[in-house]
Amino acid sequence: MGTSIRWSARMRVLLRRWRGAPLTWLIAGGFVLMAATAIGTALTVDRFRQNAIESGRDSLESAVRLLARHFDREFENFAVLQKSIIAELESHGIESADAFRSEMGTLAVHEALRAKASGWTDVAGANVFDANGVLINSSRRWPVADISVADRGYFNRLKNDPAAQEEIEVVAGRIGNAPVIVFARRVSGPRGEFFGIVSRAIAPDQLESFFASTGLGEDSSIAMHHQNGQLLARIPHVDDMIGRNYRTGSPEQMAVFQRTFVTTRLASPIDGKDRIVAARLLAGEPLVVIATKSLDATLATWRTQTKFFVTVAGLSVGLLVLTLFLIFRQVTHRLSLEKQRLDTALNTMTQGLLMFDQDERLIVCNRRYVEMYQLSTAVVKPGVHFRDVIQHRHDTGSFHGDVDTYCDGILSIAGLTQSAIVETADGRLIEIKNQPGAAGGWLATHDDVTERIRADDRIAHMAHYDALTDLPNRVLMRGHLERRIAELSEGKPFAILYIDVDEFKGVNDSLGHEVGDELLRQVANRLRACVSGNDLVARLGGDEFAIVKAGTRDPAELTVLAEQILTTLRTPVDCKGQEIPTDASIGIAIAPDHGDNLDDLLKRADLAMYAAKSEGRRTFRIFVPEYDAKARQRRLLEFDLRQALARGEFEVHYQPLVDLAANVVTGCEALLRWHHPERGMVSPAEFIPVAEDTGLIGDIGEWVLRQACTEAASWPGDIHIAVNVSPVQFRSRTLALKVAAALAESGLAPGRLELEITETVLIRDDAEALTILQQLRELGVRIALDDFGTGYSSLSYLHRFPFDKIKIDRSFISDIGEPEDSSPIVQAVVHMAAARQMATTAEGVETETQREVLRQLGCSQMQGWLFSPAVPAAKLKQLLSAQAAA
Ligand code: C2E
Ligand code: MG
Ligand code: MG
Repeated sequence: MGTSIRWSARMRVLLRRWRGAPLTWLIAGGFVLMAATAIGTALTVDRFRQNAIESGRDSLESAVRLLARHFDREFENFAVLQKSIIAELESHGIESADAFRSEMGTLAVHEALRAKASGWTDVAGANVFDANGVLINSSRRWPVADISVADRGYFNRLKNDPAAQEEIEVVAGRIGNAPVIVFARRVSGPRGEFFGIVSRAIAPDQLESFFASTGLGEDSSIAMHHQNGQLLARIPHVDDMIGRNYRTGSPEQMAVFQRTFVTTRLASPIDGKDRIVAARLLAGEPLVVIATKSLDATLATWRTQTKFFVTVAGLSVGLLVLTLFLIFRQVTHRLSLEKQRLDTALNTMTQGLLMFDQDERLIVCNRRYVEMYQLSTAVVKPGVHFRDVIQHRHDTGSFHGDVDTYCDGILSIAGLTQSAIVETADGRLIEIKNQPGAAGGWLATHDDVTERIRADDRIAHMAHYDALTDLPNRVLMRGHLERRIAELSEGKPFAILYIDVDEFKGVNDSLGHEVGDELLRQVANRLRACVSGNDLVARLGGDEFAIVKAGTRDPAELTVLAEQILTTLRTPVDCKGQEIPTDASIGIAIAPDHGDNLDDLLKRADLAMYAAKSEGRRTFRIFVPEYDAKARQRRLLEFDLRQALARGEFEVHYQPLVDLAANVVTGCEALLRWHHPERGMVSPAEFIPVAEDTGLIGDIGEWVLRQACTEAASWPGDIHIAVNVSPVQFRSRTLALKVAAALAESGLAPGRLELEITETVLIRDDAEALTILQQLRELGVRIALDDFGTGYSSLSYLHRFPFDKIKIDRSFISDIGEPEDSSPIVQAVVHMAAARQMATTAEGVETETQREVLRQLGCSQMQGWLFSPAVPAAKLKQLLSAQAAA
């Protein structure tokens, strides 16, 4: 029972799959064609059979018609003869039998008879018998033979029955006993008394030879019967049959003997065969001509034709079947190949695939689906209902919802394309897509997208979060800011804090990247601690961070926050065992006060941050409109600076460097001056950073170097010249070449040139900078470390490169003479320099006290307004000349 249900289900599935397929039409067409051939053949054969039977009947009918006409005429002659004899007797006035005998028994009558029957081919010609049956005259012989027919049935019937006028009977002949057909007519007297008979005898073969002329062919017969059933003649001739009565009494046969014209089918009383029978009653005699032909013989030709037809039809059908079979085999072969390919494709798919028909029954299911949910193939197989599949999943634990609710939901929208991601009990994410099929039903794919979605999440995270600190990056912050900006219309303000870790580069370069990374992580954690849930902390890159503070536009509140951040950051960080002090510069922009679009706000926070930096770092600034103006000015400055060199707006001034012990000028520092056509004198402190940022410092620095060397070459004695070299110039590997060229051009002894560099040179790229410094040293040029004490860890640089001189920054000098001054630091630097055979120059000496203290501290040189500010070349020359003269 179960098997048959399964089988019928499978058949239904197969049929449904094949429905509408060309193959189905082909097979159906083939069957129709075969049926049409069979029916056509059967109809044709039947038609031909009818035709054969009809034509058999036609030929039988025409045969009997022909024979009947012939015999009617033949026998009419005899009747005429008899009648004429009788008429003659009557004309002789014969009144008695005796008179008849004597009148008839004459030669004259014999002559007359012979003349009348001259054309007859009868056995016995015309004979006349008297009332006693004795032959009294004959057309054949005279005198007549002694013959009596008194014993013959026909004679006695004619004699005894005055109504009987004629008798036809087959009798055994007197000679040789051969049967003869006797036609006898009664001769009656005027009062009806019996005088005798006139007869004629015909041998059956005489009729039969005539029958034969019709040529009816095989298994046919032609016979002449008396209406009473007696057979008179027949072909094929059988002696025994002649004279026998074949009347059976059946109504069909009675019709044959009695009706004028009959065509019928009968079982022959002679041989029992089924025969077509045509019979015709002679017009003048009670005789019937019957022609028959067996159905077998009639249908002989038809049978041959039928054989031919059936053979042809059979061959056609066979050919058709063969063709169909070949096509079917070819197609099924191709289908099975395609199925194999499809199966391979389906089973190597990474997705689970199911196809349901319009009755929600499974058509196709691949291996992956079964494996994906660890299902049983005994349940999940073609023909199973969708609901049963889900029930099975429910039973095996891969589906947890309510089966009916789920199925009803899916089925109600099975005609639509659907897609959903569901989570399985074991935490996998499966993307299910349902696609409606063209002929109803739907295709479902199940894709395990767990890895993909996790990878997408990871990628999305990487795209939006900083790998080092796991803080949101610039991209995410911009998205966040856009949302905040959209909320401005709802009256929700916010602020952006740009935080730049001060001196981070130094930590990274001097203590290594690992320490640097750890510092950034700690900074990130501390910043996180400073904000609440709605606020965003982001790392913008390098040592730059940002905080988006939601819900405030109050500068006081933001000031508290900035200070809190600075305080938090200032607590030294323990990085891999190193205590690192950190600090930051913070710029703050407030929305909507400082802008209501992203770029403006970011730019203004940045400007505020640069303001904090340029105003000494370690502090914060809230944006003010003048920062914009400054930025604009800086842009203008930049524009003008690009043309200044070509326009000859630069001039080099020289500030004397005075030997503290001897109180004489031993060198000068070249300091660049810019005569701006509108703004007047612009401080190098203002434009040098711009020149550095734009890269113009390369050309400008080279120009200063040449200028200074040329100028120094004209000075008396061995007074040396100190030229400031920007860290940016150290990025060019040709610096030493340029210095050499300036020396060669000016003819200045290399020993008289001193290059002032800041520790930033060494921070940027140690190895490269050291190589260039080494090259310069090899030229014979002296190297001084400028602005010593302002940087991050100046002392470490002293170990790395043997400078010729240290210039102690003005910030250590300016407070000398005041309580708690920096003189101990200056003292320490002077000692350390002396230990390394380095000279020391104190910068910015403005008072006598300072000079005195410095001299006592053992500082070798001083520079400052106390002696002279930087002066034009001409003025310096005068000064030097005066000194030389003194
Ligand atoms: P610096 O190399 O430390 O130069 C010394 C600065 O201190 C000069 O400022 C000088 O005028 C100033 N100064 C000297 N004595 C005193 C004093 O007694 N009191 C005060 N308050 N200041 C004094 P200046 O000329 O404005 O130069 C500023 C900075 O610009 C220089 O600092 C130097 O770093 C840079 N600079 C100047 N000329 C050039 C140049 O040709 N090339 C490069 N790369 N930088 C230059
Ligand atoms: Mg200097
Ligand atoms: Mg200096």
